[in-house]
Amino acid sequence: MYAYSDFIRSSELNSRLGWVLLIGGVAYLFRHTVLQKLLLGVLFLFVLSGSLDILYAVTFGGVFTSASFEAMALTDSKESLEFLFAYASLENIALLGLYWIIAYYSLKGILFKAPERRREKVFAALGVVMILVSIQQIHQRGRTFDVLPGFSGVAIDYSSGRESIEVDINARQQLYQTKEFSAVMRSSTPQTYVVVIGESVNRNHVQLYGYSRETSPNLMRLKSELIAFDDAVSPFAQTHPSLNLALTEVDTQNNLSVQNAISLLGGVKKAGFKTWWISNQQPLRRPTSAIASLADVEHFISHDFHGVMTHRYDGYLLPVIQKALEDNAPHKVIFVHLMGSHLQYRNRYPAEEAFFTDQKGVQAYRPDPSQTELEWINTYDDSVRYTDGVLGQILTSLRQVEGVAALSFFADHGEEVFDSKDFKGHGPDGATRHTVEIPFVFWRNRAYQTEFNETDQRLKANQHQPVLLDDYFHFGLCFMQVESSLLRPERTLCSEEYQPKPRIIYGKDYDKEMR
Ligand SMILES: [Zn+2]
Repeated sequence: MYAYSDFIRSSELNSRLGWVLLIGGVAYLFRHTVLQKLLLGVLFLFVLSGSLDILYAVTFGGVFTSASFEAMALTDSKESLEFLFAYASLENIALLGLYWIIAYYSLKGILFKAPERRREKVFAALGVVMILVSIQQIHQRGRTFDVLPGFSGVAIDYSSGRESIEVDINARQQLYQTKEFSAVMRSSTPQTYVVVIGESVNRNHVQLYGYSRETSPNLMRLKSELIAFDDAVSPFAQTHPSLNLALTEVDTQNNLSVQNAISLLGGVKKAGFKTWWISNQQPLRRPTSAIASLADVEHFISHDFHGVMTHRYDGYLLPVIQKALEDNAPHKVIFVHLMGSHLQYRNRYPAEEAFFTDQKGVQAYRPDPSQTELEWINTYDDSVRYTDGVLGQILTSLRQVEGVAALSFFADHGEEVFDSKDFKGHGPDGATRHTVEIPFVFWRNRAYQTEFNETDQRLKANQHQPVLLDDYFHFGLCFMQVESSLLRPERTLCSEEYQPKPRIIYGKDYDKEMR
């Protein structure tokens, strides 16, 4: 599985090592026949589950995730059979055969005996400790997939996760039906809006914002048509909390709960727009699954890739977006959720699109970054450049659209890539300015500028205003020209009443303590 997968979480390895200790140690204590049978039964289940892990890794180059299950759950059983045959290969069968032979002789070789030597006693004790650890992890932290490796753990997590997401989805649909709010279009002119949600884009790595490397040639080419807000930060350095605030009424000050907050998609839908949610992210995620469920058209390309995340580039979204743009509804809002620069940067773009190879233009936390650090920085910049390519193509298509058209692009949060310290990634612990400083770009066509001239002028005037992404909900309703009882002018970038507010990120004042 390791040989065939592009990326494996470290917890996947840890849990397998943990089970070696558990089963090995406990074998010294299980001298009673019934207990021995129980242990062998558990091992047999592991062997079965392992077969599936190997098959999946060989076929798709990845590890089972809940997205794999979601993809399988959506294909009916007849298709699943076809699927199995389509991927049966000599390599699969040979590997599986080898695996079963090794497993058979290993199981036969297990010796159940009393621990006599000291080494054996320690091992038996470790086995008992591991039992307690796994009970604690599953019972208190609900981390089944971290305890049971591969297929089995994910299977259990998937069924419980699916259920709780289902609850979220129902609640959001209920809220949309029952909550009293108004939302109406200001104009009946045909309008097409695209909201692109980026992933882990650090503004300081975007050429449009002054980065010295060519990471955004397309945005540079279109610079004169863009309004680039240059002081936007996200309220969190994690996807889930940040999007909760950006895509719903909730903000850092109003104490609303997400369960009672209308989403931006809900707002524009109520105003009469036909809505799309087109995503390259996992289909079972908070808060996006529930928000997406209200869309008239929902398309997670994860399903087209059997849930495998590697080699699933954002470029594959383009034909789906194109189809949405060609739809003949007069009023459309298309939400696009990118995988952007998530986690393993080099998996986010095709190898042949790699562009940065040397150290030219790199601004790292130390003047001479190591080879490994440099590789992370280069692949990160490549992924940003790839995102720029996708944006460029969406904009090329959007320019052909008749009537009013506009696009907004922001990232859910930034990313530290050895910019200010010896760290790569994002998260609540030790968040740096690089993990929250995000690009926030607005493009609109001529027709938009003429039809909604006042909005356009105000947005231009507010280009350098401090922005906290939690107000995106208001920006969205406003730029898409929706009049709504939920709209608050002082939170709205396209209103002359817009008021910047304290930008508190994990308890720190960004303007005073982070920038
Ligand atoms: Zn994210």
